[in-house]
Amino acid sequence: MGSVGRSHAIANAAWQALQAHRVPPTPPNFEVWYAYCSDDKPLLTKRIGRLIDDGRPFTPGTMAGLHSEFFNGQDLGQADRSRELRRIAADLVERIAAARSPVDDYGSVLRKYAAILDTVTLPPSGLQQATAALKTATREVNTRMAALEQLFQASLVRISELQATMGRLEKDAATDALTGLANRRAFDLALLQATAQCAADGTEIALLLLDIDHFKRFNDLHGHTLGDHVLRLVGQVLIKHIKGRDTAARYGGEEFAIILVQAGFSAAMTIAEQIRVLLESSPLLNKRTGGNLGAITCSIGVSVYRPAEAPSDLVDRADQLLYRAKQAGRNQVCGEG
Ligand code: GH3
Ligand code: MG
Ligand code: MG
Repeated sequence: MGSVGRSHAIANAAWQALQAHRVPPTPPNFEVWYAYCSDDKPLLTKRIGRLIDDGRPFTPGTMAGLHSEFFNGQDLGQADRSRELRRIAADLVERIAAARSPVDDYGSVLRKYAAILDTVTLPPSGLQQATAALKTATREVNTRMAALEQLFQASLVRISELQATMGRLEKDAATDALTGLANRRAFDLALLQATAQCAADGTEIALLLLDIDHFKRFNDLHGHTLGDHVLRLVGQVLIKHIKGRDTAARYGGEEFAIILVQAGFSAAMTIAEQIRVLLESSPLLNKRTGGNLGAITCSIGVSVYRPAEAPSDLVDRADQLLYRAKQAGRNQVCGEG
């Protein structure tokens, strides 16, 4: 679990840095400080280092700037889409401004004739002239408004297309491609959000860390393609056991995690046990040959969040309990206490 251990250490350091610099623990802020602590982006590390040296505070504006510079800017496609959205918005503002002048003119024509009609009685020729002027002004305004309406419709269609693309990309960036579960990055953010929620209103949080037993042996015996299939299957089992704001994630390799929101220790243990039993009692069939591959089993560690602790402490405890479940013979659930 070398890389997992390293991620823990980085997440822990990021968490502490957020507190030390009084930065609110929002997902984008965490992302920035995670990158700083991991030294993934040397330029970012240098920039933050300089801000610290200069004793500059990390205001919301500074944080937003760092995030947009070092994260949003990374995806050139995203930059293109943002530029297009800005262009559409600027275009609309310009057209609306341009459309105002005939509308203003129309208003002044109406006011002029209203004032005349209020004060004098016009002869028929004067009335004819006034009606003609009003007709022309009305036609002009109608034409402009119809063109503007068309532009609005076209812009709305394009904006919703861009929103859909951005939404899809955002989802892809947070999803593990093999299982469709949340990926490690999305897990870290979800855990951060859940712990922030706990700080705000005392919501109970529990964590399940699950590792497939002897999965190397399974791969060696049946091949990686079937191994991948098993990982997908485990993903589906986990999804079945969560609800609402819970998160099921592929934590790495053949390790999975579930963040249970509003679940105490005994509810979490029950869910962990249900998952364990379901896996051990579900024989795997090789669809191609029809052969029975037997069932896979898993070991699970269950920890409960202690208010004010770093999220990584919760993960560390689940990890230790998972290790204990392995040591005790695998295919079992270990909880704290
Ligand atoms: P333990 O019961 O102690 O967890 O034993 P294990 O064999 O499951 O653990 P180990 O850490 O020795 O091996 C993990 C295996 O998981 C090795 C690797 O091939 C397999 N694995 C990790 N990611 C994937 C993947 O994406 N697809 C497949 N097919 N296998 C994977
Ligand atoms: Mg493992
Ligand atoms: Mg394993």
